[in-house]
Amino acid sequence: MDCIFCNIRDKEIPSSILFENEKAFAILDINPMNYGHVLLISKGHYSDILEIPENDLKEILSAVQLVSKALVDAFSLEGFNLVANKGEIAGQSIFHFHFHIIPRHKNDNINFVRNIKKYHENQFNKYADQIRNAIQSLK
Ligand SMILES: [Zn+2]
Repeated sequence: MDCIFCNIRDKEIPSSILFENEKAFAILDINPMNYGHVLLISKGHYSDILEIPENDLKEILSAVQLVSKALVDAFSLEGFNLVANKGEIAGQSIFHFHFHIIPRHKNDNINFVRNIKKYHENQFNKYADQIRNAIQSLK
């Protein structure tokens, strides 16, 4: 299996690790949307958030929080975007779980295009019920 993130984790590809704990590590994205754009990557090879064992999530998220705080401090950020894509249709290109932590600045010309939809009359409740039912069946 040829996975660039596994290769980086295993030091088969040299990289500059910013941080690591037992379940996650962080590197700079070499194709940044903004300078300081970090990839926070699970150590285990899981294709996406749905594959990650619950036990790993806590350490992954605590790494996300720590590195995000460090980015805020290092660059005096007012904000950042935290993004994880699931599936090609959502823009996922490397199928090994990772968060993007993208520093934001005033007038940085980064636009996540939002095409806001409106719910029709009963649609809102219908969607809410469908989600609640799905959650119930996962329990
Ligand atoms: Zn991998």
